[in-house]
Amino acid sequence: MFGFRAPLPREGQWLELDGERFWLAWKAHAKARRMKLLVGSNGPRLTLPPRTSEKAALAFVDQHQEWLLNQWRKHQALQLPELSQGAVLSLPWLGQQIPVQWLQGRALQIVRQPEQWQIHTGARSSDSQLRAALLKTYREFGTAWFRQQMQPYLAGMPKAPSALQVKPLKSLWGSLNVADVVRLDVALLLAPEPVAEYVLVHELCHLLQRNHSPKFWREVQARCPDWREHRDYLRQHGGGLKAEARCLFG
Ligand SMILES: [Zn+2]
Repeated sequence: MFGFRAPLPREGQWLELDGERFWLAWKAHAKARRMKLLVGSNGPRLTLPPRTSEKAALAFVDQHQEWLLNQWRKHQALQLPELSQGAVLSLPWLGQQIPVQWLQGRALQIVRQPEQWQIHTGARSSDSQLRAALLKTYREFGTAWFRQQMQPYLAGMPKAPSALQVKPLKSLWGSLNVADVVRLDVALLLAPEPVAEYVLVHELCHLLQRNHSPKFWREVQARCPDWREHRDYLRQHGGGLKAEARCLFG
């Protein structure tokens, strides 16, 4: 560029998309004819033609937030490969990384031991079968874990939930339906324990208040004083947790 640099109104801006905060770098480009947004390996960037005003650039970014968010999601999904046999040395479980031992066996089997997980893969087992088996394991142990966590909270409840299900949920973290079934996202098992517990408490409190009124939040507060912190964690890292779950479980 022979040392030529078009003047830049500012270096970039912070953006908050899908609960994640990231830096959008602004780059001046002498030959650019119009503003352009791009999500690349260096993160998102905005290309500006010479003499673009700060106001016009901010308005452009504002108009294209939705598009940028979609690109950002696609980019993140591309960065994480789907789980394949032998590909990882550990697996996330409630904020910890559990070592994984890969073994050749006759059939696909996942054995959870206290210190590590053994994954036996057969000669004919496919990666998609592996991901399905892993999902089954997480659902099974996740259900048991949530049930255990639930016990102390039931004391102050008018009734217990009729069922507790752990499964992949697209956008929600949990729900309580009219039949009092609690559903929890399997991706919560990739989050720290107190965060997963908060979502459980949140859904249980809907047995008392089927809304998000101040009364409801007082019930949550009484059982989980740090709920704001956990809610913020999900806002900030939730997209990443759900993306990781899709890679692990398909
Ligand atoms: Zn709720």
